[in-house]
Amino acid sequence: MKEQRSRREFLGASAALVIALASEARAQGGRPRPTPACGEYGVTHPQTEGPYFKPSSPMRASLIEPGIGGTRIIVEGTVLTTDCKPVPRAILDFWQADSQGEYDNTGFRLRGHQLTDDAGRYRLESVVPGNYPGRTRHIHVNVQAPGQSVLTTQLYFPGEPGNQRDGIFDPDLVMKVRDGDGGKLATFVFVLDPAQGRRR
Ligand code: FE
Repeated sequence: MKEQRSRREFLGASAALVIALASEARAQGGRPRPTPACGEYGVTHPQTEGPYFKPSSPMRASLIEPGIGGTRIIVEGTVLTTDCKPVPRAILDFWQADSQGEYDNTGFRLRGHQLTDDAGRYRLESVVPGNYPGRTRHIHVNVQAPGQSVLTTQLYFPGEPGNQRDGIFDPDLVMKVRDGDGGKLATFVFVLDPAQGRRR
């Protein structure tokens, strides 16, 4: 009897654990979160490059130029190794749709690359991209530490109705976004795993 009760208690505890893990996985988009590599930040997941990448973007941290409308956004953060060291002189090559959801495929509007500083920091000035059919709001980026492979990924916005409808949306790639003076202020920390990505 005693044995039966303790077995029931054990089973009850196991079931509670399974339910807790399942609800955590649901809260994170159906997939258990990997162990963070760096404080709260896990290794940054790769994503498809999509059809609109163009090589040889201009070197510039600000993509703002005359005629670009939409809500201004600053995205800033750090590039780290998996052991949490900043990566100076990492290349970040950003490209995105304009506020109407259009890419410039003939020129280089809303495309630009920059290097992290000595503390591994980057700072992008841009506009909030629009949605386009089939995709939720996102910014594309290729990140490459010196001598390492390229991480191709995308950054997402929190609380977007389109996030749950976008088949490749990844909750681990959502930026922290808040309202700032005259626009949005976003942050994202990249953690690069040298074993991941592809050589260029
Ligand atoms: Fe895109």
